[in-house]
Amino acid sequence: IDGGFSILNPTIFIEGKMSGASSLISPLKRLAGKVAILTGGASGIGATTATLFHKNGAKVIIADIQDTKGEALANKLGENACYIHCDVTKEDDIRNLTDAAIAKHGKLDIMYSNAGILDRPLCCIIDTPKSEIDQILGINLVGAMLGAKHAARVMVPNQKGCILFTASACTAIGGLLAGNSYVVSKYGVLGLTKNLAAELGQHGIRVNCISPYGVATPLIVPNEAEITSMEISLAAMGNLKGEILKPEGVAQAALYLASDEANYVSGLNLVVDGGFSIINPTIMKAYIQ
Ligand code: NAD
Repeated sequence: IDGGFSILNPTIFIEGKMSGASSLISPLKRLAGKVAILTGGASGIGATTATLFHKNGAKVIIADIQDTKGEALANKLGENACYIHCDVTKEDDIRNLTDAAIAKHGKLDIMYSNAGILDRPLCCIIDTPKSEIDQILGINLVGAMLGAKHAARVMVPNQKGCILFTASACTAIGGLLAGNSYVVSKYGVLGLTKNLAAELGQHGIRVNCISPYGVATPLIVPNEAEITSMEISLAAMGNLKGEILKPEGVAQAALYLASDEANYVSGLNLVVDGGFSIINPTIMKAYIQ
C-alpha cells in the first residue's frame, strides 16, 4: 500500500512532466496542444492529414476553396477544428488565415502548405498555354511561398515552428509523371524547402517537404468510383509490392515531420514512393525476366 510509489519510474515520470514529452504521456497525442493550418485541407491528402493531426491532439484550421467540403470536415471533427476559406493565390486570404490562427489560438505551430492542382491532360511543351503555366505555378508554387511567408511572419516572434509542403515524387525522377508546369512547380517547392530551412533555421523554424508517389485522390481520380482501379494501376507501376500508397501513408509522414519526434529534421525532402524513384526499370526488367 504505497499509493503507486513503487510502480513508477521517476526518471520517465519527471522527464515526461518536465519536458512535456507528450509521446511518453500519451503515444496517441503526438501533436498535443499544437496549432496547425492545412491548405488544401478539404480533400484528399490534406483532409486525411487534418483528421490525423486532430486525432493527435492538434487544433486544426482547414483552409481551402471548397467551402462545403471544408466546413463538413470541420463539423465532423468537432471541437478544436474549424474551416476558413482561403485561396492560396491571394495574399490577403493567406494573411487573414495566419492572423486568424493567432487571434483564435494565440500561436501557429504548424503550417502545412499542401494545396495543389495537376496539369491534366498531359500536354507537350509546344502546346502548353501560358495561362496553364501561370495557373499551376500560381497555386502550387506561389501559393506555397505565400503560405510560408505569412507562417514565418507569425512564427518568427516565437522562435519556433514547422513549415511543411507537399511536393511530389517527380522531384526525384524524370519521365512524364506529370506535365512540365506541375514538375516545375514541385521542383520550385523543393528549392523553397531547402532555402527556407537555411533562412528560418536561425529562428528555430523547421522546413520540410513530402514527396508522394501517385495517390488515388480527386486530384487524379475525379470520379470516386474509379479510386480502386486507379490504386491497382498505381500499385502495378510501383516498386514496392504488397502495399498501396493511400492518403493515410502521406498523412503519417506529415505527422512525423510535424511532431517533436522530428525536432532536428529540417531541409528534408521525404520521398514516400516505395523506392519508385531510385530504381532503373531497365535493370529491374533484366533481372526479373
Ligand atoms: P486533392 O485534389 O484531393 O486536394 C487538393 C486540394 O487543394 C483540394 O481540396 C482543392 O480544392 C485545393 N485547392 C486547389 N486550388 C486551391 C487554391 N487556389 N487555394 C486553396 N486550395 C486549393 O488532391 P491531393 O492529391 O490531396 O493533393 C494534395 C497535394 O498533394 C497537392 O499539392 C498535390 O500536388 C500533391 N501530390 C498529390 C499526389 C497524388 O497522386 N494525389 C502525388 C504527389 C503530390
